[in-house]
Amino acid sequence: MLLRARLSNPHLLSIPFSSTKPRSPPPLAAASSSRRRPLSLSATPPPPVSDDLVRTALFVPPGIDRAEVTPSMVLPGSNIVIGPYAGHSQIKQVEFVKSSARARDCPKDHRPEFAILGRSNVGKSSLINALVRKKDVALTSKTPGKTQLINHFLVNKSWYLVDLPGYGFANAPESARMDWSSFTKGYFLNRGTLVGVLLLVDASSPPQQIDLDCANWLGRNNIGMTFVFTKCDKTKGGKKTRPAENIEQFQALIRKHYQEPPPWIMTSSVTGMGRAELLLHMSQLRNYWDN
Ligand code: GDP
Repeated sequence: MLLRARLSNPHLLSIPFSSTKPRSPPPLAAASSSRRRPLSLSATPPPPVSDDLVRTALFVPPGIDRAEVTPSMVLPGSNIVIGPYAGHSQIKQVEFVKSSARARDCPKDHRPEFAILGRSNVGKSSLINALVRKKDVALTSKTPGKTQLINHFLVNKSWYLVDLPGYGFANAPESARMDWSSFTKGYFLNRGTLVGVLLLVDASSPPQQIDLDCANWLGRNNIGMTFVFTKCDKTKGGKKTRPAENIEQFQALIRKHYQEPPPWIMTSSVTGMGRAELLLHMSQLRNYWDN
C-alpha cells in the first residue's frame, strides 16, 4: 500500500517525500537480466539531450539507491532508471474490452491500468497502435460516439491500457472543454487501479500551456505520471521543430514544481523509438504496484 502511494506520488514540493524501500523484488527471470545488459532496446536512437538534464533529474524507482545508479541503468532517451522490478514487457495479446461513460462503469476486475492522455493530435492513437503493434486497435476511440468515452484495452490478459479523450480541441466551445474536464477528472479521482498516467506531449512544438496545466492538475491530485514525448523523429521544419530543445524547455518549466522529477521518455510512432523502453518502464511500475 505504501509503495502504491509512493508510486502515485509525483513528489510535488509540497508533498513529504518517503524513502521507504520495497520489501523484496519479485522473482522475475527477466528482471535481473534487464539490469545487466546495456539498455539499448530500440533500433532508432533518440536525439541527444543535455547530459545534465538526465543526470541531475533522474527518476529513480523505489528500492534503488541513487548513489548506485550507473549510466547503463538509465533507459536511453529518458531520465528513467531501471531497477530489479522491470521485466515481462512484451505485448503478446491485446483485446478491446469496453467503452465507459463514467469511472464507475469501467471494468471492476482490479487489474492494474495505465491511462493515456494528451492534447488532440498529439499522436495518441499512433502511439497506442505502435505499442500494441496493431493498426486498428486505437481506432475504436476515434469512431463517432466513442471519442468522449473511457476505452479499456486488455493486454496479455493481465493489465489495461486506457485510452482517454484528447483535450484542448482548438475550436471546442468553452462548455465542451469543461464537460471533458469533469468527465476525465472523475475517472482520475475514483480509479483505484490506476498505476499511472502516460501524459503525451508533442516534442515537435514548443511547450504548450494546456499540457503544463494538465500536468499540474495531475500533480496536485497526487496522480503519478510519465511524460511521453511524441514525434521525436521530427527534426525538419525550422527552429521550432527541435524535439531535444522543446523537451528541455518543457522540463525547465516543470522542474520547479517537483522535489523529484517525474519520469519522461522520448518516442516516435514512425520509427519505433522508445517503444521497448516505454514498455519496460511500464512493466517496472506495474510490478511495484503488484507487490
Ligand atoms: P491523436 O489525435 O492524438 O490520436 O493523434 P494521431 O495519432 O491521430 O496523430 C496525429 C497526427 O500526427 C497524424 O497525422 C500522425 O500521422 C502524426 N503522428 C503521430 N505520431 C507521430 C510520430 O511519432 N511522428 C510523426 N512524424 N508524426 C506522428
